Amino acid sequence: MKDVTKNAIFKRLNGDFEYYARYQRIKQISSRVRVSEYLITTACNIRCKGCWFFEYDFDKRTKDLSKKDEIKKFLISERNRGINTSLIIGGEPTLHPKRLELFAEIMEFNSISTNGLKALPKEGFKDFSVLISLFGGGSLDDDLRAIKPNGNSFSGLFETALKNYKYDPRAHFIFAVTEDGIAHIEETVRKISENGNTVSVNFIVSMVRAIHSGPSTKKDYLMKFCESGSCFQRHSLATLTTLKLW
Ligand code: SF4
Repeated sequence: MKDVTKNAIFKRLNGDFEYYARYQRIKQISSRVRVSEYLITTACNIRCKGCWFFEYDFDKRTKDLSKKDEIKKFLISERNRGINTSLIIGGEPTLHPKRLELFAEIMEFNSISTNGLKALPKEGFKDFSVLISLFGGGSLDDDLRAIKPNGNSFSGLFETALKNYKYDPRAHFIFAVTEDGIAHIEETVRKISENGNTVSVNFIVSMVRAIHSGPSTKKDYLMKFCESGSCFQRHSLATLTTLKLW
């Protein structure tokens, strides 16, 4: 067997054999992937605070392509230009399963970005990957996002997403963390882990604020975050998919 210990990537991954094997698997399929992003609807079943889609009136300035034949023709033209992978966003893609069926029929790989409130059926979509957005964790998620289109608030958006995708191998949470939500990280990651799902993390606005606050604040912030981030290590490696690359 080839000695990988001198491999530069292996060294960058801190000599972690499991992580290196995952990297190799991704590398194997990545050369086949040609991806494009599709906004399939202007409709959404919630109104997150500050959502760029509604802030910039995309829902008013664009019109859905809704006829099956038109969508099919468009997707075939996409395949003909070499695209075989979709990242489907909205609005909220799960509101339009009939449109998603056309992606399933024509594209080789499909992912949807969803708020998790409505489940994507397994029937017909078993090979989709489902990327569930999560803002801040804990009560912050409801504060920022559990708002109906009519402006009324509700509760339990994250809990509903967990219920909809319990032990569903298609589901992966995209957890946007902020220093305002550090106290929620541990519990949020534990719930995702216990639900049999995986998670990636990214930063939202507060990180930008930290970067602009000067080196000492940035360092303090990162130290604080990394300490709290150790909770990721306490849960299974399978739960966390990207933190080590971060
Ligand atoms: S779920 Fe997505 S599209 Fe809908 S309001 Fe929130 S950020 Fe905007």
